[in-house]
Amino acid sequence: MTDSYDLVVIGAGSGGVRAARMAATYGAKVAIVEEYRVGGTCVIRGCVPKKLYVYASRFSELFDVASSFGWQVDASFDWPTLVANKEKEITRLEHAYTSNLEKPGVEVIKDRAVVTGPNTVHLHGQGRDLTAKYILIATGGTPFIPKIPGADLAITSNEAFDLPALPHSILIEGGGYIAVEFATIFAGLGVHTTIIYRGDCLLRGFDEDLRRGLEAGLTERGIKLIYQTTIKSLHKDGDDIAATFSDGVTAPYGAVMFATGRAPNSHGLGLEELGVKLTPTQAIAVDAYSQSSVPSIYAVGDVTGRSALTPVAIREGWYFAETVFNNKPMAVDHSLIPTAVFSEPELGVIGLNELEAATHGDIDVYLARFRPMINTLSTRTERMVLKLITEKDGGKVLGCHILGPGAGEMIQLVAIPMGMGASKADFDRAMALHPSAAEELVTFKAPSYTYRNGEKVGG
Ligand code: NDP
Repeated sequence: MTDSYDLVVIGAGSGGVRAARMAATYGAKVAIVEEYRVGGTCVIRGCVPKKLYVYASRFSELFDVASSFGWQVDASFDWPTLVANKEKEITRLEHAYTSNLEKPGVEVIKDRAVVTGPNTVHLHGQGRDLTAKYILIATGGTPFIPKIPGADLAITSNEAFDLPALPHSILIEGGGYIAVEFATIFAGLGVHTTIIYRGDCLLRGFDEDLRRGLEAGLTERGIKLIYQTTIKSLHKDGDDIAATFSDGVTAPYGAVMFATGRAPNSHGLGLEELGVKLTPTQAIAVDAYSQSSVPSIYAVGDVTGRSALTPVAIREGWYFAETVFNNKPMAVDHSLIPTAVFSEPELGVIGLNELEAATHGDIDVYLARFRPMINTLSTRTERMVLKLITEKDGGKVLGCHILGPGAGEMIQLVAIPMGMGASKADFDRAMALHPSAAEELVTFKAPSYTYRNGEKVGG
C-alpha cells in the first residue's frame, strides 16, 4: 500500500464523500480519512435521523385530526423502538456510503488526520504520513455551546437522537432551524417543551408572515416560547436540571438542549500553523472554486461557512472534483438555494423575502392564507401561508415562501422555474392542480400589496 495520493480528503460527510467519489471516477488516487462514522452530520446525526424523528412526531398530529375523519385511535409511543430503528437505518446508509466510496477505488481510512504541510497529512492513530497533490478539508461543523456555568449538563443535537429515555420536559435554547425542528419533534412525542430565545421572534431572517405563522403553530401545539431571555447557568436539581435565566427566574427541566448555532470544524487540523486563511467566524476562507489561501488545499461544506446545507456541500464537492480532476472549472452558484425547516408547521423558502426584495426595486406581493384541507373537518384553525414576490416590471419571481403541510416538497419544485428566471406569467401559464395547496401559486390574480420606492402600499 502506497502512502502517496492525488487527493486526501479529511471528513467523510456529504461534501467529502461526493468529492472523493467523483475524483476517483476521474482516475485520481484518493484516500478519505474519517475519525467518526462515514456519512457525516447529515446521515449520522443530522438531516436523516432528524427527518425520521419528524415523521415519528407527526403521528400524534394525525391522531389528533383522525377522529374528524371517523377514526378512533388508541395509540402509544415507544422511544427505544424509534432509536433502535433509526440506528438500523443510519447503519445501512453508512455501509452504502462506504461501499460507494470503495467501488471507484477510494481508500477509506478510519483515523484522525492533521495537515502537517501543503501536501502532507499525518494520521494520528496510525502514526504515519500521507502525501497528496491536493488536500480537501470537509470536516463540517460542530454545535456551538455558550460558555455558562453548568453548560456540560445540557445536550446538543448530537446527543438528542440517542437519549436513553424521553425526558418529561425539555428546555431548548436558540431560535434557528435546530431549535424549532427539535421543539416540534419533542412536543409531538409528548414532551413538555419550552424554547428560550434571545430575540423577539423565531427564525430571524425568514419571511415575517411565516415567522408569525410558525409562532402561532408552535404555541397551538403547546410549545412555550420565552423571548428576549437567555440561559445564564445550569445546575443539577435531583433528577432534573435547573436553569437560571437572564431575568433571574429559575425553573427545573428534565433536559436542556443548546441549539445555539454551529461552528466550523477548523480547529486542531494544523491549518493555522500552515497559514490557511480563516474568516472571522473561523471558517476556511475559499474562492469560488473552493480553493483556500494555500493553493494545494481546498475546502467544501460547512467548514467553509458558505451555506450549512447538505445539498450545497455535495455540489461544492462535485464541482471541486470537476475543477481539479476533470479540467472543467466550475463554481457553485449560492444565490438561489431552496431551504426547508421541518418544524410543525413546516416552512419552505427560496429567494428573497419581501423586505430584502423591496430594497432592489418595486415589487408585487401575492399572499394566500387558508386552512389546509386536512384541517377542515376538525376544529383546528391553523392557516397555511403561500407568498410569491415578483418584480413590478416584467414580473420576475424573486421569492417564494410557504408555511404548512408539504412546504419543503413544494419549494424544491419552485426552485426549477426560479432557476430559469421564471416570471409571474410563466407561473400563470401552468394549469392548476386541484385540490392542492400548491395551486395557489399559479392562480394568484392581483397582488395582495406592493412596495413602491421601498414603502409598503396596501395590504
Ligand atoms: P441557526 O444559526 O439556524 O440558529 C442559531 C440560533 O441560536 C439563533 O436563533 C441564534 O440567535 C441563537 N444563538 C446563537 N448564539 C447564541 C448565544 N450565544 N446565546 C443564545 N442564543 C444564541 O443554527 P442551528 O444550530 O439551528 O443550525 C445550524 C445550521 O444548520 C443552520 O443554519 C442550517 O444551515 C443547518 N440546518 C439545516 C436544517 C435544514 O435544512 N432543515 C436543519 C438543521 C440545521 P439569533 O437569531 O439572534 O442569531
